[in-house]
Amino acid sequence: MVAHHFTIDLEEYFQVSAFEGRVARSAWERLESRVIPQVELLLDLLARHEARATFFVLGWLAERQGELVRRIARAGHEIASHGWDHVRVTHQTPRQFRDSVRRSKRVLEGITGIPVAGFRAPSFSIVPGREWALDILIEEGYRYDSSLFPVRRGPGYGYPDAIPEPHWLPRSAGALAEFPPSMLELWGLRLPAAGGAYFRLFPYAIARAALRQCESRGTPGTFYIHPWEVDPEQPRFNVPWSTRIRHYGGLRGTVQRLDRLLAEFRFTSIQATPSLVGLDQVA
Ligand SMILES: [Zn+2]
Repeated sequence: MVAHHFTIDLEEYFQVSAFEGRVARSAWERLESRVIPQVELLLDLLARHEARATFFVLGWLAERQGELVRRIARAGHEIASHGWDHVRVTHQTPRQFRDSVRRSKRVLEGITGIPVAGFRAPSFSIVPGREWALDILIEEGYRYDSSLFPVRRGPGYGYPDAIPEPHWLPRSAGALAEFPPSMLELWGLRLPAAGGAYFRLFPYAIARAALRQCESRGTPGTFYIHPWEVDPEQPRFNVPWSTRIRHYGGLRGTVQRLDRLLAEFRFTSIQATPSLVGLDQVA
């Protein structure tokens, strides 16, 4: 039985890219933190199903929630980086990106004492033309990336022609393992399926079909979710209706769906997948 990857982008409900225009970074400090009970809920869910996960943690958050990060690591989950303050790669210079991945890695390693191997860009923002970010990850000591979402959803998001399975990316700086978030290939189209808003808003069967499709190829899928997606009581921002549906739609059903997914499939962290594409080199 294939063990899929369960991944969590660890950030506060107010750090979502789509809220950038409404919530200034300078205001983050003053907003209510809700991440502890959200993560506790996810940890319970994972423990109940004996599943392991990879948490891509925002450096800004780790600096303020060190004990939470230690608890996650102590529960047997992998700690990886989600950058420093959720600036998308499409909005960064190479220098800013390097600072962000270097600083977040250092802070996370300082908290847990365990080397950080993985990275996921905010909002899957390593898009065509931004491949320099992959070289910088290698130079900064990262061993794998999970940012190349093989779907087409407008500019600034996704990498439409990416290989949909785990693979090595040969770069001038070396090699980086890539774990693309899963999609569902249907009638020649690539549908985002295994995570986030797609998981909340589309029928559950879509996510299941995406993971089954990975199994039929003999490769693990990569599922992702955010702590704020299990918190229907989170404060709501006044955002346009399309953003409102995307971020607040289906929140009440997330836990139940996750429970079902965790019962139907076996999940582990990315780093615990040594048999893949020579990934023992990553560990
Ligand atoms: Zn994020």
